[in-house]
Amino acid sequence: MTSQVKLVCTECGQANRIPENRLRSGPRCGVCGAALADGRVLTLDALSHDKAMRTDDLPLLVDYWAPWCGPCLRMAPEFESAARRLGPAIRFARLNTEDHPQISARVGIRGIPALVLYHGGREIARLSGLRPAAEIENFVRPHLASPVS
Ligand SMILES: [Zn+2]
Repeated sequence: MTSQVKLVCTECGQANRIPENRLRSGPRCGVCGAALADGRVLTLDALSHDKAMRTDDLPLLVDYWAPWCGPCLRMAPEFESAARRLGPAIRFARLNTEDHPQISARVGIRGIPALVLYHGGREIARLSGLRPAAEIENFVRPHLASPVS
């Protein structure tokens, strides 16, 4: 029997159960059909941010950014490149802090861009400032092998 992983659909909020051996074959949401883990960066809103952060069985790396932030815009392609290389062992997502200031205040984001890695319903690491793809990967990799405690 293969184990299953819970992943929240960032489009409709549905919690999906995906057999682990199907993660690499582009799983889709059972309700709305959106891609759950295809190596692309997902877009979060306040609801999907909280639900995915609390529910997902896979690590979730969130890029807190804003449209007026030059370094954020320069990091976007780096973040996307790291997402393609590391997925689907981890999901990459971004949250617009201008649209959702209450979330960035609660998470304690003081400067952007900021990356926060969640796993098992809690924050496990954080990295601030503009980073190239290789640094993002190096930041994430040590956390991919460790089981949720
Ligand atoms: Zn969905």
